[in-house]
Amino acid sequence: MEIISNVHLVDNTTSHCYLLVDKELTLIDTGFPCYINKILRYITNELDRKPSELKTIILTHSDIDHSGNARRLKKITGASIAIHETDAEVITRRTARMFPTSRIGFLLKFFNKRMTPPFEVDYRLREGDVLSGLTVIHIPGHTPGSIALHDITRKILFTGDTLSYRDGYVKGPSKRYSMDIQQAFQSIQKYSTLDFTIMLAGHGDPLLVDASLKVKQYLKQKH
Ligand SMILES: [Zn+2]
Repeated sequence: MEIISNVHLVDNTTSHCYLLVDKELTLIDTGFPCYINKILRYITNELDRKPSELKTIILTHSDIDHSGNARRLKKITGASIAIHETDAEVITRRTARMFPTSRIGFLLKFFNKRMTPPFEVDYRLREGDVLSGLTVIHIPGHTPGSIALHDITRKILFTGDTLSYRDGYVKGPSKRYSMDIQQAFQSIQKYSTLDFTIMLAGHGDPLLVDASLKVKQYLKQKH
C-alpha cells in the first residue's frame, strides 16, 4: 500500500516493512522470517521493479520480527544491511542477545534461537549518520541499539518499536517488549525537538497529520 508518494507499506509481515522508492529501493525492516516472499512479490508485482534494485536494508533494531528476513534478502537481492552499531553486535552474535523479562521475552528467545542464524552487516550506524536520505537517531531502551529514521525533507519519522500510533492515540514503549523501559521513556524525549508531519512505526497505524504535535502532547502528558 502506498502511504504517501514513493513510501510503501508492506503489511502482514508481523511488523511493518517500509519500501522507499527512488532510483534505488530502500527497505526499512524486513518482517518475521516466514514473510520474505511478500516483500519480494511487492517489489516485482506492485512496484514493477527488480529485486536487484533493492540496494539498502535498514533495520530499526535487532528483534526477529524486524530483522527476520534481512540475511536472505541480502542473498537474493545483493542489498547492504545497516543497523545501529550496538544491535549489530547482537545480529552478528558477538554479544549475547538480551530479552525482556516478560513472558513475551521468553517467546522471543525461543523463536530467535531457532529462526535467525547470525549474519554480517555492512553498515554500523551511529547517531547523526545519513543513509538513503534518512538521519539516524539513537533511541535506546526497547533494545540497546534501537533507532528512529528521520526524513527531514519529507518530514517523516520512522520510529521502529520506540513509539507507535493506534486507535487515534500515540502509544509509548511497552514494558512487556522493552529491555530497559526507563531508558526507553527517556530516549523518546528526543522526539520533542524534531519536526515531522508523518510518523510511521513498526506496528499500529500510520499517523499522517500533525505527527510531531501529537507526539509532543503525548510526551508532555507522560512527563
Ligand atoms: Zn521490537
